[in-house]
Amino acid sequence: MVKIAYFDADVVSPEEIFMAAGFTPFRLLGNPAIEHDKVNEHVPPTHCVWAKNILEQAIRGLNPEIKGVVTSHGCDCTNREFDIWVESVEIDFLFYLNVPLKRDKIALNFFLNDLKELVYQIEDRFKIKIQPEKIKEAIKLNNQIRKLLKEISEYRTKMILKGSEFHELVKLSQTNDKKKVLDILKKKLMELKNKTRFTEKKMKRILLTGSIIDDTEFLIFLEDKGFQVVADDLCIGSRYFWNTIEEDKDPIVAIAEYHLSKPLYSTKMPSYDRFEFLKFLAEKYEVDGIMNIAMKFCEPMLYDHPYMNKKFKELKIPYIFIEMSYNREQYKQLSTRFEAFAEMI
Ligand code: SF4
Repeated sequence: MVKIAYFDADVVSPEEIFMAAGFTPFRLLGNPAIEHDKVNEHVPPTHCVWAKNILEQAIRGLNPEIKGVVTSHGCDCTNREFDIWVESVEIDFLFYLNVPLKRDKIALNFFLNDLKELVYQIEDRFKIKIQPEKIKEAIKLNNQIRKLLKEISEYRTKMILKGSEFHELVKLSQTNDKKKVLDILKKKLMELKNKTRFTEKKMKRILLTGSIIDDTEFLIFLEDKGFQVVADDLCIGSRYFWNTIEEDKDPIVAIAEYHLSKPLYSTKMPSYDRFEFLKFLAEKYEVDGIMNIAMKFCEPMLYDHPYMNKKFKELKIPYIFIEMSYNREQYKQLSTRFEAFAEMI
């Protein structure tokens, strides 16, 4: 299986273009178990711990099935890392996708041009032709996956599917062949329809937000503390499947419009809009509290937190903000803060 990987602070990489080019899209995920040996000479000590972890893995050498990596414009860390990747990572194809900060008409045209440039560069580098019909097929396949994930996610709120199991399913969807993913999700949905609640115990219903959270062990840790994630606005979560791409128009236009209209991340403008989606989720899923988890040195989250804190106080929804390192020892160290939050809500 040949893959094009994406390194993405948000989740705005056009998987359908990679698929139409004959590659499996593969989201690069962190590995909290590794030491950071090689990366420190390339980045300042205040570099985001998650982005640093990805760069460490890339310098050591990515899986040979990965033939190219696309980085999308996101936060300062991912943006500046691209230059370091060019210098220090051995990979055949690297492309920086300039996803705009804004979402107006001019931004859409700007994004369209960069997506076309990506198509051109993939075609040129791999000596292939990306057919619009193939992109349309990929859109249809991914839309089915998005709809299934959205339907499956509802079983978290019914306490039939653990938040951690759902998190694994989204990661699986971002890193495997999509036809295989479709089969797995269909089977999972059938299975869930015949399942009963996994607990009679009253678990606290949590809306999880924040930086990228890709370590499922963290959600398992939360479950051990009595929290069930019933909703989220994460890139390994709702932002990956909340909307679908229009199937009956020019596929590149449809992809661009999709990415500029889905739930907004803190790296985009106006970042305050992110609060509106969180408020909607908190009310729809009747959550007991909101957890905003930032990777250490994640500036977009650090800037968002004061506003979120103020707004959720006004709504009288319990809210906790935690900045944490990218290693599992941290979870134990933070235990008392989570326990205190559980007692409060
Ligand atoms: S966790 Fe924050 S700082 Fe790190 S890559 Fe994501 S948005 Fe950027």
